[in-house]
Amino acid sequence: MVTRRPNAVIAISIVLAGAILAIAVWLLAQMREDALRRAQDAVFNVSLLVERDVSRNLEIYDLSLRAVIDGLRHPGVLELPPVIRQMVLFDGSIGAKDMGSVFVLDKNGNVRFDSRSVEPRPLNFAGRDFFKVQRDSPNVGLFISHPFSPGGSGTEKDQDKDQDKDMRIALSRRISQPDGSFGGVVVGTMRLTYFRHLFDGMKLGPSGSMALMLSDGTMLMRRPYDPKTIGINLTGTANYSRFIRQPNGDFFGTAAIDGVERWYAFSHIDIYPLILDVALSTGDIYVEWRRRAWIIGTLIAGLDVTIIALAILFSYQLRRRREAEEELRELARTDGLTGLNNRRAFEEEVNEEWRRAQRNGWPLSLLLIDVDYFKGFNDLYGHSAGDEALIGVARCITQNVRRPGDTAARYGGEEFAVLLPDTGAAGAQRIAEQIRTAVQALECRHVASTHHVLTVSVGAATAHGPLIETSRALINAADEALYRAKDAGRNRVQLYRAAEGAPADGAVVTPDTQGPGTH
Ligand code: GH3
Ligand code: MG
Ligand code: MG
Repeated sequence: MVTRRPNAVIAISIVLAGAILAIAVWLLAQMREDALRRAQDAVFNVSLLVERDVSRNLEIYDLSLRAVIDGLRHPGVLELPPVIRQMVLFDGSIGAKDMGSVFVLDKNGNVRFDSRSVEPRPLNFAGRDFFKVQRDSPNVGLFISHPFSPGGSGTEKDQDKDQDKDMRIALSRRISQPDGSFGGVVVGTMRLTYFRHLFDGMKLGPSGSMALMLSDGTMLMRRPYDPKTIGINLTGTANYSRFIRQPNGDFFGTAAIDGVERWYAFSHIDIYPLILDVALSTGDIYVEWRRRAWIIGTLIAGLDVTIIALAILFSYQLRRRREAEEELRELARTDGLTGLNNRRAFEEEVNEEWRRAQRNGWPLSLLLIDVDYFKGFNDLYGHSAGDEALIGVARCITQNVRRPGDTAARYGGEEFAVLLPDTGAAGAQRIAEQIRTAVQALECRHVASTHHVLTVSVGAATAHGPLIETSRALINAADEALYRAKDAGRNRVQLYRAAEGAPADGAVVTPDTQGPGTH
């Protein structure tokens, strides 16, 4: 079926190639989604890890500050000798890594107790945020200050100085008097390098980023680390606006700091006024996928092109084979000398037209044409002149058999046949007469003929009604008429008539028979 229709081969190959392409696209889309999902999982894990670590450390630190306050409340503690008091107030945890000094400040901001020395350093922190906030409102709880450099006043000017290594934040708690009034502050510092080392320990891809900021938008630490980003305020940036909208979430966004597009996950850390964001750059997320997409895409494109190219080649070969077959079939049906149909093709045609005529009730006529005295012509003029003469006769036949359904054939050596569908006896006779006249008009010299030129005799038979019942009978009838035409002197047309069809009837020339020059 397919092999008969070369274009169908190409169409099928295109559908196949399209299907392969569709599958590949679907697979790649799945892989891309997987890549994002994996990245999201990684980001969530990192975020959770950092959040817990920060939360845990702040909690420990806060507990230390509370322990100091509890110690101060204890009536006996203040009466202890300074060295013992120092040990009771500031327990071991305060000495932990990344933690700085802890001070107890009086209500004027002066240092009362100093974790680093028994004799407190003569410092005053009345101007600093961690003091003022606790002084001005009683219910702040743990306060986390803006980043500052130790020794500096904590203003922005100081932060610009090249002291990034020691940048700190302060954590403070209020000391309330028994009557609830302000009694001072406990404050401790924490090195920002703690966050930096924490961030550096996480795997986030070459362009990943992490940031820890105060709820008011002040940057505490960012990875990739850049001292200039510490302390800047992010208020007004697109990402920060999203961070403060919800306790946690995720989104695709572009960092204001470096302009890189990333997938962000953020969360507010526990009870603290801190926001953590962890982000993977979309480039990093899809880098592996992109590499695979290129390979798969190239392979699929190659495969599709190959399939279609092979289909085109195959269809071209099919078309050629079909043409060759067509040619062979045509050759098998054609007579080599005259180019007319050969006998086999003619007989097929007769059978087909017979059935059609029967179905439709149409008349079907058949002419049998035989060259007169042809044996003599060959003897006289030679075989090749005879062949030429046959070609001439064939031309006379085709020139007079013009209707689309009509078929002319070389039926035997020098015998021709013409099939005339939907043609009655009168029409058949007219055409037969035209052929006979045309051959005679060739004026091909034939001295051995009684007519002196080459002529043909034609026997015509028409099947219409019950008299002729098979195609074979039609041929026989035409043959019989031909025989009678020969018998009647040749160069004439003889119609078959059933009533007169008895062989004994011999050379009766019917009134229908006309033949110029034969009377
Ligand atoms: P009639 O008028 O009774 O038909 O006489 P005729 O000589 O034509 O008799 P017949 O039909 O028996 O002659 C057939 C001759 O046709 C025999 C052969 O020499 C010649 N012939 C048949 N086929 C060919 C052919 O292909 N080429 C040539 N040159 N001659 C052929
Ligand atoms: Mg013959
Ligand atoms: Mg003959």
